[in-house]
Amino acid sequence: MPTTLLQNATLLVTMDDARRRIAGGGLYIEDNVIRQVGPTAELPPAADRVLDAAGMVVLPGLVNCHHHLYQSLTRALPAAQDAELFDWLRTLYPVWAGLTGEAVYVSALTALSEMVLSGCTTAADHLYLYPNDSRIDDEIRAARQVGVRFHPNRGSMSLGKSQGGLPPDSVTEDEDAILTDSQRAYEAFHDPAPYSMCRIVIAPCSPFSVTPDLMRASAAFARERGLHLHTHVAETLDEEEFCLRQFGVRPAELMRELGWVGPDVWWTHCVHLNEDEVRLMAETGTGVTHCPSSNMRLGSGIAPIRAMIDAGVNVGLGVDGSASNDSSHMLAEARQAMLLQRVRLGASALSAEEALWLATRGGAAVLGRDDVGALAPGMAADFIGVRLDRLAFAGCQADPLAALVFCEPPQVDLSVINGCVVVEDAQLRTVDLPATIAHHNRLAEELLERARS
Ligand code: ZN
Repeated sequence: MPTTLLQNATLLVTMDDARRRIAGGGLYIEDNVIRQVGPTAELPPAADRVLDAAGMVVLPGLVNCHHHLYQSLTRALPAAQDAELFDWLRTLYPVWAGLTGEAVYVSALTALSEMVLSGCTTAADHLYLYPNDSRIDDEIRAARQVGVRFHPNRGSMSLGKSQGGLPPDSVTEDEDAILTDSQRAYEAFHDPAPYSMCRIVIAPCSPFSVTPDLMRASAAFARERGLHLHTHVAETLDEEEFCLRQFGVRPAELMRELGWVGPDVWWTHCVHLNEDEVRLMAETGTGVTHCPSSNMRLGSGIAPIRAMIDAGVNVGLGVDGSASNDSSHMLAEARQAMLLQRVRLGASALSAEEALWLATRGGAAVLGRDDVGALAPGMAADFIGVRLDRLAFAGCQADPLAALVFCEPPQVDLSVINGCVVVEDAQLRTVDLPATIAHHNRLAEELLERARS
């Protein structure tokens, strides 16, 4: 079993239950699992591989709970720059209708590279449209190549415009076909074991793009197989109005009626929740992804994250899709989370350490994982290192951890995922980035051309 020693970190931040920070800390790793954490002098002096973290702050790899990787193909599109969610979607659906399997693969390769360089080691992705024979397999192939721990969400849309939904019928699927393909993806890719690199999630898109029947059927399907469930909830006031008009209840109540609450469920956004709805989430163990950049970008509002944390809700962070952020930067998202709560509640609303806790332990809990998010014996060997001698961190020696969120969000210099070195000397070792970006941008141009013709 190959061993790895990480030594001499200027500051090792464990995010363990005691929130220990160890100056001069290190890790001793067997294969893909952390066996010892502590001051370097107390660790075995040698290993098959030694990583020197002198000059770095080291912390657990970050967990991203919500993304739409394919949207990197349609970033900063002029027609969608200043629209709120429903008009933004109406503008983009026809463009996304031109997606191909190749486009799903290359965009996932691009956006996951960006994620990993920004500190993410466990990524969820919500892929909810499958035009032109594209499949969830296409993004799983990309995740394997990048080397990231992956929770692909087999998403879906079935309620087209002709049935009163928001998306054009051309990007929806038949409900039987959705469940059949979910079964195929489950059999082909789902690994429930500890340290799993791939867990399938079942994820109908939103109340305005799927039917209640599909929501119920998806919940039953997932629970029979021990899969987690994920969807968008309470993102905008337009969605709230849609639910009140269509179903006579607010979005969270609709989810409760459909059986979409519990520790195996997480909702993304939850911008417009009242106190009772926050309590419902806490009491049922339902998790949430907070996506502050996307909520600001689309003018959706400020999610009551402070209240959720205080109520005991599991809160993780998500960058959301690359067309509503329009970046895939995990540390930047932690910074936005910290700043946005302060806009509403003042400067003590969320600390830098709490924001990073949401990005590590919080996200792990939301995804139902007890093997990532902290540096402790028995946890997966997923960690990142950031050099402190960069220009943006000059003068931050008093608190290098806080610098990660207070200062300009950096890219990481080191990333180890499942015991494999994925980023070293600030270079992603698993992907040819210039070639991938060029390929990605060719596909993005083709997608726009197809939408115009
Ligand atoms: Zn989303």
